[in-house]
Formats: sequence, structure tokens, C-alpha cells
Amino acid sequence: MRTRKRLRGRRISLGALCRWLGAQAEALGVEVFPGFAGAGPLLEDRQVIGVRVGDMGRERDGEPGPNFAPGVDIHAGITILAEGCRGSLSKQLIAEFALDEGREPQTYGLGFKELWQLPPGRVKPGQVEHTVGWPLPSSVYGGSFVYHLDDDRVYIGFVAGLDYAHPDFKPFEAFQQFKHHPTMRALLDGGEILSSGARAIVEGGLQSLPRLEMPGAILVGDAAGTLNVPKIKGVHMALRSGMLAADHYAAHGKSTGFDAAWHASASARELRRVRNIRPGFRWGLWPGIANAALETVTFGKLPWTLSHHEDWRAMLRRDQTGEVPEDFHDRTLAPRDRLASVYFAQTAHDESQPVHLKVHDTSICVERCTAEYGNPCTRFCPAGVYEMVDDAEGRRLQINAANCVHCKACDIKDPYAIITWTVPEGGSGPNYSLL
Ligand SMILES: Cc1cc2nc3c(=O)[nH]c(=O)nc-3n(C[C@H](O)[C@H](O)[C@H](O)COP(=O)(O)OP(=O)(O)OC[C@H]3O[C@@H](n4cnc5c(N)ncnc54)[C@H](O)[C@@H]3O)c2cc1C
Ligand code: SF4
Repeated sequence: MRTRKRLRGRRISLGALCRWLGAQAEALGVEVFPGFAGAGPLLEDRQVIGVRVGDMGRERDGEPGPNFAPGVDIHAGITILAEGCRGSLSKQLIAEFALDEGREPQTYGLGFKELWQLPPGRVKPGQVEHTVGWPLPSSVYGGSFVYHLDDDRVYIGFVAGLDYAHPDFKPFEAFQQFKHHPTMRALLDGGEILSSGARAIVEGGLQSLPRLEMPGAILVGDAAGTLNVPKIKGVHMALRSGMLAADHYAAHGKSTGFDAAWHASASARELRRVRNIRPGFRWGLWPGIANAALETVTFGKLPWTLSHHEDWRAMLRRDQTGEVPEDFHDRTLAPRDRLASVYFAQTAHDESQPVHLKVHDTSICVERCTAEYGNPCTRFCPAGVYEMVDDAEGRRLQINAANCVHCKACDIKDPYAIITWTVPEGGSGPNYSLL
């Protein structure tokens, strides 16, 4: 199913907007520290008092190397966590303060986005196209977007719900197959890919929002889960919640009351209206569309709220699933495979640093996961980070951490929930300057 509309005004790169906003903030006297990641929250007497920045210069085995510099502690009157979807500090603090108690589990999608330069004459600046479904099976929520830009460029993107059940499903290959639909292929053939990226999208909506405040800290934007999923629009919600957090702190000097302030805001009303659309797709594509239509015409006023389930629990074992989903093939458009896509994400990690993907018990990968799920991390990771290797030492998990594009899918979807994404050394990661 496909929709098309024309928008006035220019569509811009979010990366470019952030660089511009950074300059505005610095002009107002804000100190911005790009290249320094918050590695852990600082707590004192059950109060967040700031963050600890990650160490620099540790060797692969975790020992300090010759250029070692320990991470500094940054103390703050209030810490506003704006880490985006599945933030690693936010995850720790949600657990520490049980902020998700009594809420529905959070659910996610995996989003892909590419920037293409096309031959002259094909692009219609301002045109926006959305599709749902193909080539996804009816049981998998998702679809695509195509944004026509100026200068003969388009953004092409795709999202697949991470609550999918079949362990053999491959989100990256589904996206690449989508690009080979006759309509898309006609658009892209002869063009050139300039940039690519992958990132989890927070899809649980209103019922999955954790409490947005804790002693000394506030959650905003995708770190909280404020994205409007039927529209795949999170930027305005993130901006609004950031501004509300700033206003709240300026007025009250503490985090207390922020959750209530957000729930009294236009953003909460926006999420309330659409709260049942995403969970309705658990019944399949067409029932999901029918439910979405009902929810839209009733402005979300129906007296129920549908629930979610945790994505990692949604995966079925191979002996519980039927036919293996279509193995997407016959692709000619770039990138040909995941590693080629990593090249266009311009990801860079110093290989001598400790592996930032912590697999808490790799014996599970070998002894249970191979038999039960066939190691789905080798399929859902869009960057080919996880590989099962059989050699003289036996079967083992190899983690190619340098390829990681920081999408967080493994932290979310691993069926034993034994993978934790942690921040690599500051500045490492993909460079999404054009996306
Ligand atoms: C494929 C795709 C397409 C999308 N399309 C749209 C769209 O068309 N319109 C729209 O409105 N929204 C869209 N969204 C959603 C939108 O990108 C997000 O809702 C929005 O960016 C959320 O903003 P944020 O500031 O909360 O988080 P983010 O934009 O994710 O920013 C978080 C930042 O914090 C940094 N960070 C994370 N952890 C740490 C740490 N520990 N220390 C230091 N820094 C850290 C990250 O590197 C990142 O720069 C899309 C999302 C995806 C994945
Ligand atoms: S290792 Fe995890 S976070 Fe990194 S690209 Fe793969 S799935 Fe995404």
C-alpha cells in the first residue's frame, strides 16, 4: 500500500540542523563537548548528580594503554538525558529507579535510511511517498518512506518492527529488496548511493513511556520514547520535550513535576490520539490498517489502550516456526551487502579499544542459541558485527565491533537479552552528517 503527497518548503538533513543548533548554543555560552560519551550515571544518595565520561586509551583487554586518560566526572544540578532511542545511560537509570513500573514494555523498530544522487529529471522536490508492507511478511510491521530533496537527491528509508517472530528474518535484506520493487528500481537505477545508516526507532508510544523524571534527572526525546510512530516523526517531539525540560528546570530548579508537566502538554495529547495504532499491527497488515483507520477517525477516543510485548520475547524458536521467510536475493543496486552499507555509514572505531558490545555469556550463543534460534544476531545486525566462526578452536562468537553503526538492535532483539551495548571511546561510531 502506497501514499504520496507534496510538501512545501525544504527538507533538510537532521545532521546539518544539529550542527547549526550546536553553533547557536555555543554562541549563547553553552559548552558543547563533541567526542565525549557519557559512559555511566553518577549517583549519590539515590540522586543522579551527573555523568562519568568514558575513559580514553584503554587497550583491547581493558587495561590502560600508553595514552590512557581516565574519564572525568561531570556534575550537574540536573541531568537531562537526550541519548536517543535505547540510550545506554537511560536504560540503566530506568532500571535503577524502576521508571517503567506499571507501564507497557517498550517496543522498537529497526530503521534504515540512504541518501541517493539520481540522474537529472527524476526527483520531484517536496514529494513524500510512504508505503506499508512489501516485501515484509504480513506478520511484520513496517514500511518505507521516500523524501524527494533538491539537487536530484532522495532519502529512501525503511522500517521493520523488531517484534517480529521468525528468527530467520533479515531486516537489512528486506530493505534492500524493497529498493528492487519495480517503482523504486526505476527511480534508483543509474543513481549513486552517497550515505547510509541504521538506527532503532522507539515505537511503544504513550503506554510504554517510563516515568520521565527521577531524583536529579529527566528523560527527553527518544530516550524517553516520545516519537509519534504512525508518522515516524520524533524530531518535533524531541525538541518540544527538551524545551519543556529547560523551562521546567528554569522555573522549579528540580526534576520533580516534569512527568506531570509533560503529560499535560500537547505532546501527550498527540501520543494519546495514536496510542492504539502500532499495537493493532500485531494482528497482521490488513487488520492493522483497519484498526489504524478506526483509531484515526475516532481521534484515539475509543476507551481502550492496547498493550505491547518485549521484542526479545517475541522471537520464536526455529522448532516453533514454519517456513523460512524468503531469502531476499536478486539485488543489483548498491550496497550489495551489509559490509558495503557500513562503508556508506562511514563508521570508525579504533580497533585497539575494548569491545563495546558486551555479550554476558557467549556459551549461550554456542550451546543454546545455535540450536534454538540459529544465532539470529548474525541476521538482525545490519552491520555484520556478529559472526559464528567454526575453526580449530571449535564454534565461537566473533564480534566485529569496529563495524558497529550504533543502531542498538542487538541490545533490543537478542532472544536471551544477554547483549548490552555500551558507549565505545568518545567520537567512535558512524558519521551521519548527510542523513
Ligand atoms: C530511519 C529513521 C527515519 C526517521 N525519520 C524521521 C522523520 O522523517 N521525521 C522525524 O521527525 N523523525 C524521524 N525519525 C525519528 C527521529 O530521528 C528521532 O525521533 C529524533 O532524532 C529523536 O531525537 P533525540 O534528540 O531524542 O535523539 P537522537 O536524535 O537519537 O540524538 C541522540 C544523540 O545523543 C548521542 N548519544 C547517545 N548516547 C550518548 C551518550 N551516552 N553520551 C553522549 N552522547 C550520546 C547520540 O550519538 C545522538 O547524537 C526517524 C528515525 C529513523 C531511525
Ligand atoms: S552490533 Fe548491535 S548496535 Fe552495532 S550495528 Fe549491530 S545490531 Fe546495531
